[in-house]
Amino acid sequence: MDEGGGRQTPHRPRAAVVLTGSELVTGVIADANGPWLAHELTALGFEVAQLLVVGDRPDDLAAALRQCADAGCVLVVTSGGLGPTADDLTGEVVARFAGLELEFDEALRERIAEIVARFPRIDHDPDARDAGVRKQALVPRGAVVLDPVGTAPGLVVSPDGGPLVVVLPGPPRELTGMWPTALASGPMKVLLADVPAAAGRQLRYYGLSEAEVAATLRALELERDLSPVEVTTCLRRSELEVDLRPQPGGEDAAEWLAAELAARHAALLISADGTSTDELLARALLGRGWTVATAESCTGGLLAGRLVDRPGSSAYVLGGIVSYSNGAKTSLLGVPAEMIDTYGAVSPEVARAMADGARTALGADVGIGITGVAGPEGGTPAKPVGYVCLCATTASGVVVARDRRIPGNRADVRDRSVDAGMHLLLRAVTG
Ligand code: ATP
Ligand code: MG
Repeated sequence: MDEGGGRQTPHRPRAAVVLTGSELVTGVIADANGPWLAHELTALGFEVAQLLVVGDRPDDLAAALRQCADAGCVLVVTSGGLGPTADDLTGEVVARFAGLELEFDEALRERIAEIVARFPRIDHDPDARDAGVRKQALVPRGAVVLDPVGTAPGLVVSPDGGPLVVVLPGPPRELTGMWPTALASGPMKVLLADVPAAAGRQLRYYGLSEAEVAATLRALELERDLSPVEVTTCLRRSELEVDLRPQPGGEDAAEWLAAELAARHAALLISADGTSTDELLARALLGRGWTVATAESCTGGLLAGRLVDRPGSSAYVLGGIVSYSNGAKTSLLGVPAEMIDTYGAVSPEVARAMADGARTALGADVGIGITGVAGPEGGTPAKPVGYVCLCATTASGVVVARDRRIPGNRADVRDRSVDAGMHLLLRAVTG
């Protein structure tokens, strides 16, 4: 669990990510690279110590690099600031951090100039362009140059005694595109040889609270020393994800813990190997050769969108009907108008009729209906904002229904209704 005071567990090698860009610290754009890199580094077996975000100011970037070194990181990955303009300073600052001179690389200049010449020009000042290209061809002595994916080359810099620094461009497509090349570079390969495999485990639950997991962990700790396993819980897509990351030597403890957690909350367990609900549903539908159709009111097509997010979904998704008005529920899905009058558009009866209607209209094996009060207006004492009715039915006669009050604002209610719909479908298909 948390590092116990005096206990000595061998640590995983630590890594950090430094994200640069004034547009990040002003909130103009949201960082996409930090989470992506953190996930990659964790999967490689590093313990990610920190993600730092700094503006395009050399002192702040230098301070961030020192902070990573002070935290004992053996690897720092930077993002951004590799372009041709004056605010692109990362190469220079990293060189100073590493105590290395910048050297002009003529072959690299030619390569970048060639790439830049292929780009459609928006600036018409060839001198400025050439100056930019020359700047991008300045390389810290001894650094490995990573081929540009856009126009900016990346760098792998090995300071004497300090952490290895991998310098990547900011645009996400360029950063992710350059990552495999960075991993294949000589200094990275040497570093990775000493990183123990990740051996992480992930369990996913639906309907289990963090407090319940915490209580179970406290009970299990009395049975076995769990200090070599770092446990984190995270609520995502209405599911509780429990991540178990063993320090080297803690793999057995992690296996034991995973088995205990799975057994103690078996009824709410979605998967013990990290497989997502979406993937489980896809496998179940494909396994039975079944097709699915949706009828959505308050979610307005979000569930259909979620289903087709997965590549290959055309094998089992037939289509969806967004029936927002009462008239559409009747004309498109055959929900009797009297039923809507009697029970209301948001009712278990209508949800079921919508599921049947979608199934019939599209000739699917499974249908699902969702109708609810997303808010902020339209709630009544009997059917408050957040009250959502879901029903999944199959041609073979299975009916699974749920109606509940979902907390949150309009967006939360709609998102969580989709999550609930995915779980209901999974139950209907797996029986
Ligand atoms: P360029 O050659 O495009 O200038 P660069 O390596 O200098 O590349 P930046 O100038 O830092 O990168 O960023 C360029 C653009 O890439 C930003 O304006 C932004 O649109 C995108 N970008 C940069 N960093 C991030 C990030 N962390 N997350 C998402 N997008 C980013
Ligand atoms: Mg830039």
